[in-house]
Amino acid sequence: MADYYSILGVSKKATDKQIKKAFRKLTKKHHPDVSKDKDDVKFKEISNAYEVLSDPKRRSYYDRFGTDPKDKSKPKPKPKPNFGFNIFTTRPKVQKRADNIQYILELNLKDILEAHTKTITIDRYEDCYSCLGSGATELVACELCGGSGMEGATHSPFLFMQSTCRKCRGLGTIPKGECQECQGTGYSNPQEEKVKVNIPKGVEHGMQIRVDGRGHIGKGKRNGDLYVVISIEEHEFFARDKKTLYCVVPVLYTQLISGGTLLVPSIDGKKIKFKVPPGATIGDQFKVKGFGVPVFRSEDRGDLIINLELFIPKDPNKEYLDLLKKMEDDISDEYLNRFKFK
Ligand SMILES: [Zn+2]
Ligand SMILES: [Zn+2]
Repeated sequence: MADYYSILGVSKKATDKQIKKAFRKLTKKHHPDVSKDKDDVKFKEISNAYEVLSDPKRRSYYDRFGTDPKDKSKPKPKPKPNFGFNIFTTRPKVQKRADNIQYILELNLKDILEAHTKTITIDRYEDCYSCLGSGATELVACELCGGSGMEGATHSPFLFMQSTCRKCRGLGTIPKGECQECQGTGYSNPQEEKVKVNIPKGVEHGMQIRVDGRGHIGKGKRNGDLYVVISIEEHEFFARDKKTLYCVVPVLYTQLISGGTLLVPSIDGKKIKFKVPPGATIGDQFKVKGFGVPVFRSEDRGDLIINLELFIPKDPNKEYLDLLKKMEDDISDEYLNRFKFK
């Protein structure tokens, strides 16, 4: 890392004013437009040094760690996020890691009919800008490994084994003091981030979709993962049990006796022509094949089970009541005979 102070020719205790003055003086001398020898490497060096030392945040970071947090020449190694997902149908083994994010995704029954992509917004923690995630005001060389990050285990003419330092976990440095910016947590304020999540068809309530590497920034390791927990809201007409849908359809008394055709809505928004057989009764169940929901990880689709419920008119007129009375008289013998036992 370049010594920005000596590049600008100022002391480490220089005030902002002194830094600015030194910079102006040097740019006059080394500006590519002015300089006779087209010295733009030198000019870049000066501009770089000034950029860091004129920014209080970056200057204080540079004073403490001897590096610039925005130094592009030394990119921070970041774990590569993997956009694949895994689904757990049974109890998921979610490691209780602080870096993982859990997001509850509300879906309705219609959403599970086809595989699709949903964009969700999560709050992610990144590394604190000021301490670059260390949570410390300074990093001191690890005493155990002398800053190398490696521990020598065996010395012999034939064998020399090295392992990652136990104390600093291979980083070579140990954090000291508490960063004011993040109160020592090493995390930034949560940053909003949009994530595309693939929702397979047939997902069930409580399933979790793992999106690798899209959790919070990992501390010294890989990033945490994002766990999207599926929550499926109850439907006002259909009840679901895995791949089977159930519904209750009101029928008229006359339709039960003489049969009839009902139009039953399907979850896809279609109308199912359902024939009530003559003599049907409340409590009978009827299966309509293929009108349930898709089976998770399969091309199979469940069935719809229709339960009948008697439609009772709320305010029947006299004519209707007279008809019913007549019907009742006509069938009373048959009805009463049901209670004659031998
Ligand atoms: Zn910090
Ligand atoms: Zn060490």
